[in-house]
Amino acid sequence: MAVRLVYPPRCISCGAMVEEDFGLCGPCWRDTPFIAGLVCDLCGVPLPGEEDGTAIHCDACLATARPWSRGRAVMRYDGNGRRLVLALKHGDRHDVAHPAGRWLARTAAPMGLEGMVIAPVPLHWTRLLARRFNQAALLAHALARQTGLPVIPDLLTRKRRTRSLKGLDHATRHETLDAAIVADPRHARRIAGARILLVDDVMTSGATLSAATQACLQAGAGEVCILALARAGAAP
Ligand SMILES: [Zn+2]
Ligand SMILES: [Zn+2]
Repeated sequence: MAVRLVYPPRCISCGAMVEEDFGLCGPCWRDTPFIAGLVCDLCGVPLPGEEDGTAIHCDACLATARPWSRGRAVMRYDGNGRRLVLALKHGDRHDVAHPAGRWLARTAAPMGLEGMVIAPVPLHWTRLLARRFNQAALLAHALARQTGLPVIPDLLTRKRRTRSLKGLDHATRHETLDAAIVADPRHARRIAGARILLVDDVMTSGATLSAATQACLQAGAGEVCILALARAGAAP
């Protein structure tokens, strides 16, 4: 392809030339904390033990009610995982989104993607202006290209700016966020009874994804699953 001759594929982490457009060179692939094996069926955190086909849940998901039904994450949010997320968030790195879309598709597959509608977790418009684009929306579009599933980038919107969550306890975080995310009534028909796949770049406590899930369910969604590029707080 002519484009390849001008822009030979490079590793999205270290910039080394790579043979194919797989996103990462061999060493960077090995250094990226991709999550594999047995995982929590709600948040995707890796768990010790063998996969035997039954859904199991981590301590955090047992302690905190999750309004969504299943969840996965591509990698742990540390080391190279953290670097890639930050590159996407602050660096306008659309080259990261393309391979990330493939990783997201592969990671989400066990949840059963058929008939799903993809929606990103929304940024507040003031943050959207400051940052120029919503990295969750970028990932949602990349996932849609990989899977052929429909994506509704503005399915959810922020009502008002969420104040900084730093220093707030868990319950207050939920309250602050709950009021802040709503489903856009223009999409009411597409949401009703639908299986929604919510996409975000990082899942930390899950408070934002909970608020986004509640908004979908309140708007009549049949089921909500969640998918994050990286899971923070996941033990190595
Ligand atoms: Zn590399
Ligand atoms: Zn979990």
